[in-house]
Amino acid sequence: MGSSPRVLVVNSGSSSLKYQLVEPEDGTVVAKGIVEKIGEPGGVPDHEAALREAIESLRGVDNPEIFAVGHRVVHGGSSFGEPVLADDDVVAKIHELIPLAPLHNPANVRGIEVGRELLPHVPHVVVFDTAFFHTLPEAAATYAIDTEVAREHGIRRYGFHGTSHQFVAHAAAELVGRPVEEIDQIVCHLGNGASVSAVKGGVAVETSMGLTPLEGLVMGTRSGDVDAGIVFHLARTAGMGVDELDELLNRRSGIKGLAGVNDFRELHRLIGEGSEEARLALDVYLHRLRKYVGAYLAVLGGVDVISFTAGVGENDDVVRAGALAGLERLGIEVDPTRNAERSKQARVISPEGAPVTVAVVPTNEELAIARQTIALAQD
Ligand code: AMP
Repeated sequence: MGSSPRVLVVNSGSSSLKYQLVEPEDGTVVAKGIVEKIGEPGGVPDHEAALREAIESLRGVDNPEIFAVGHRVVHGGSSFGEPVLADDDVVAKIHELIPLAPLHNPANVRGIEVGRELLPHVPHVVVFDTAFFHTLPEAAATYAIDTEVAREHGIRRYGFHGTSHQFVAHAAAELVGRPVEEIDQIVCHLGNGASVSAVKGGVAVETSMGLTPLEGLVMGTRSGDVDAGIVFHLARTAGMGVDELDELLNRRSGIKGLAGVNDFRELHRLIGEGSEEARLALDVYLHRLRKYVGAYLAVLGGVDVISFTAGVGENDDVVRAGALAGLERLGIEVDPTRNAERSKQARVISPEGAPVTVAVVPTNEELAIARQTIALAQD
């Protein structure tokens, strides 16, 4: 079989390792899987065992040869604006970035280390979730706090979900048949984590996540934007410690904090049963999202395409319609029939001839990583 080169995409998390064997040329997924419960009872002992199991499982597929490995890393800090070939220096730098992403980078870098040990003869490429936002103008990336403190501790806005925002911005340009360089876009990545970006001519100029993925939109379990004063207030009056506050805002907030569930299918079920908490949760979510769309419209000075992607964005027509309701005077409208249609394809959901194209564009982070990996590996 003359199949094209295959890339193993690895997403190594703290307790699970997801993998896909992909043919980047046409996006064929040859095999995929997840090894769960790493370091937990009933699971594999560590990340090396997890990757070993993943590679082992690929022996069963036709032509299991791996041309290169692409690793997802959440935080590239200020060091990485592009994918890089993994070498000892790169691994050391990712270790240095652990304080910026203590929940993600340790497991991500472990995946690279064991990958290089287990597959020493193929190129390993690192693709950073922050890289696409390396281009944020200083005015958008800078927090208005003491410059010295910010510099010493790397406090600035980095943005996340970059691989997805970049992939969707290009796919949306293709959908409307215009060069990405010629259009201004707002991309709404609405999954369990959620972020929105403003993309000018293919270049990211704003995004809602900041130093960490906590800033911005209301999410499944994260609060998004809050007054930082809440943190001091709870520390002083409720005696909450740093870890407790971290857990509160990252895990017990957002839709989950307001309605008790974080899956939007559950949320709609509760609304259908008359839950006022669930209704309010959705209203808060939509209000925040609409506010960001308006802000980014101003940042861009007008927009050609607004896209929705990820679990909620691709599947939830109520969220899409609700987020953009009342924006007709800005040329933004969602066609109810088009919006209600269910499909796995990229599609336009605004009315024919509308000034702004609204679209649903399925994301594919693994394919994006595989393509960036092969581009570097074949260099
Ligand atoms: P992601 O993080 O992109 O995998 O998105 C996961 C989230 O997508 C889930 O927590 C759900 O809230 C949402 N989701 C998945 N499928 C649907 C659906 N059919 N309708 C509404 N929301 C969905």
